[in-house]
Amino acid sequence: MLDDKDRIFTNLYGMGDRTLSGAKSRGHWDGTGDIIKKGRDWIVQEMKDSGLRGRGGAGFPTGLKWSFMPKESDGRPAYLVVNADESEPGTCKDREIMRHDPHTLIEGCLIASFAMNAHACYIYIRGEYIREREALQRAIDEAYDDGLLGKNAAGSGWDFDLYLAHGAGAYICGEETALIESLEGKKGMPRLKPPFPAGAGLYGCPTTVNNVESIAVVPTILRRGASWFSSFGRENNAGTKVFAISGHVNNPCVVEEAMSISFEELIDKHCGGIRGGWDNLKAVIPGGSSVPCLPASTIKEGIMDFDWLREQKSGLGTAAVIVMDQSTDIIKAIWRLAAFYKHESCGQCTPCREGTGWMMRVMERLVRGEAEVEEIDMLLDVTKQVEGHTICALGDAAAWPIQGLIRHFRDEIEDRIKHKRPIAAE
Ligand code: SF4
Repeated sequence: MLDDKDRIFTNLYGMGDRTLSGAKSRGHWDGTGDIIKKGRDWIVQEMKDSGLRGRGGAGFPTGLKWSFMPKESDGRPAYLVVNADESEPGTCKDREIMRHDPHTLIEGCLIASFAMNAHACYIYIRGEYIREREALQRAIDEAYDDGLLGKNAAGSGWDFDLYLAHGAGAYICGEETALIESLEGKKGMPRLKPPFPAGAGLYGCPTTVNNVESIAVVPTILRRGASWFSSFGRENNAGTKVFAISGHVNNPCVVEEAMSISFEELIDKHCGGIRGGWDNLKAVIPGGSSVPCLPASTIKEGIMDFDWLREQKSGLGTAAVIVMDQSTDIIKAIWRLAAFYKHESCGQCTPCREGTGWMMRVMERLVRGEAEVEEIDMLLDVTKQVEGHTICALGDAAAWPIQGLIRHFRDEIEDRIKHKRPIAAE
């Protein structure tokens, strides 16, 4: 359990002053220049030692990712790009950070950019996040006026500029190479890798793309120390984590907690329990819509971290916890996700372009109870043909929720088919 004194995001609920002076009163921008003067090797090593794994879904170690950037400039500029294109169903944690605690992110941009030899950083924000863009821009302007950004940023001796770019509402632009394409003014379509962005990213230059939360926690980790951060959670699953909990709980919320907190404690402590009590829990999608759901019997005793959830063939993802009670038509819920991925596929590779539409249409028949029982295995087979055979992870993201449904709720699907219970897909 996390004490208030150990929270990084001290204004997550927007109860405090969001201005620069408010942020400073909560400890942000304290000694930023001195942190930078410790040098990039020290910063990168501290980040490695902290055990921070990327908070955007993939969970790749952040310090290690930074170390892939060239140590010396080869004449090309280096860039940090912050992925604020938070569009995954259920996921709204970065929104709260940008809306209520924007200086945590801006300070992190400066330090992380310095660590990667970048004099410029772009924050690419989701098209629908208009209030958040306004809040961030206000905070950026304040930071420039106060000398925290620009020439000799925060007295560090490092010149640094921060730009805000607004997306146009395409989920695929949250994929790092599609985001880079979009930033360059092109259609947001993922690139084949390699080359990876650290070698040739934005404008063909060395680039690291990090999630909002991953960057926003950096200053506090460096101020309080890697060992402080890694004291939360457990080995390989260190630190604090912002969870976005929605669905059938009594009080949906966004909350920062220690990694590896038990599911039961997370829900009871912050959400007032499951709607109708714990016996009413049916299933949970624990990490945003791209990971498979887990049944109540599994998740109830579970812990919320990368490794435990992966052992259950699910994932922590973005830590967007979608809770479904017994009233949920889970087949229809997963069909709705299938429709989302079909809509958001950029269409550039065949397994995803054709597969997402195919999967959605079969799911629609399952919702209506119109399919044959044999089609369940056929659908599963198609998900396996999409999984791992596409340019970007959207194909996997479309396949996995269906695999989870069939793994855990096959009886319910078969029951609907056998009894021809028609429930219209909207
Ligand atoms: Fe586009 Fe889908 Fe291929 Fe990704 S997997 S590149 S979204 S078609």
